[in-house]
Amino acid sequence: MSAFILDGKAIAAAIKQEIKDEIESKNIKCGLAVVLVGDDEASKVYVKNKIKACSQTGIKSYAYYLQPTAEENELLQLIDALNNDSNIHGILVQLPLPSHISPNKVISAINPKKDVDGFCAQNMGKLFLGETDMLAPCTPSGIIEILKRSNIEISGKNAVIVGRSNIVGKPIALMMLRENATVTITHSKTKDLKSITSLADILIVAAGKRELIDASMVKKGAVVVDVGIHRTEQGLKGDVKFDEASKIAQAITPVPGGVGPMTIAMLLKNTLKAAKDLLEIQ
Ligand code: NAP
Repeated sequence: MSAFILDGKAIAAAIKQEIKDEIESKNIKCGLAVVLVGDDEASKVYVKNKIKACSQTGIKSYAYYLQPTAEENELLQLIDALNNDSNIHGILVQLPLPSHISPNKVISAINPKKDVDGFCAQNMGKLFLGETDMLAPCTPSGIIEILKRSNIEISGKNAVIVGRSNIVGKPIALMMLRENATVTITHSKTKDLKSITSLADILIVAAGKRELIDASMVKKGAVVVDVGIHRTEQGLKGDVKFDEASKIAQAITPVPGGVGPMTIAMLLKNTLKAAKDLLEIQ
């Protein structure tokens, strides 16, 4: 058996087309500010890809590059200016930030209506309350979109999440719960991980550990979503041993071409939503 490939790249392309069509048909002036502090190579690539995706959909991007030595206050002042700029509907501060800057302080400074990463307490709180009308974190939203657009039933399924980060593990657990999955969250202190992952109908892996999940940890016929991204000499790898797991699973996301493109598509979707809400467009 060979698993069905959940093609995040193709689904993301369809979502981008929908966004482009809506922006054109409603003539929406939509602006996203992307802020990068420092010169982390991976972050530079992410920012470049986000700016490119904006140009493909008709969203105007505004890039701000701050020196690695920039003071926290300088960044907070920039965010304040962007909060008050009517051309800007979404503000994204690329993480991680240099260690002398508090990410929590920076995220809390962003107007929740412009928080297109969905990381602030107000947007996370709404997610916790089971609400749907907010800017939700992009990677977890992208995972839900992949599953839904691939007609994968979530309700009543055993979903196991590997990882409990604020940006992936916790929010995807809440979203899967909202979709009526029975959710188990695992983390680095979990004992006998395999005994839990092997019960998963839907296994979502966001551990940041290259090829942590092998075939023996996957239930036959499971749906496997691999969030991990690891740059290696052989190209990008995930948290799952794809070659092995794809022989056991019913469906699986590849790396690259799975969750990654969906994250960017959901960022654009959030930016359009933020613009429509701020401009009071239906
Ligand atoms: P993170 O903040 O480092 O969190 C990793 C989580 O995995 C933690 O909760 C950690 O547990 C848990 N963990 C680590 N080792 C484990 C193990 N052996 N068994 C079980 N759990 C383990 O990472 P993240 O930001 O969530 O990102 C995870 C991965 O996804 C990374 O590879 C990242 O690059 C990738 N990512 C991809 C996208 C995308 O668009 N595709 C977006 C975001 C992140 P503790 O809490 O106990 O430490």
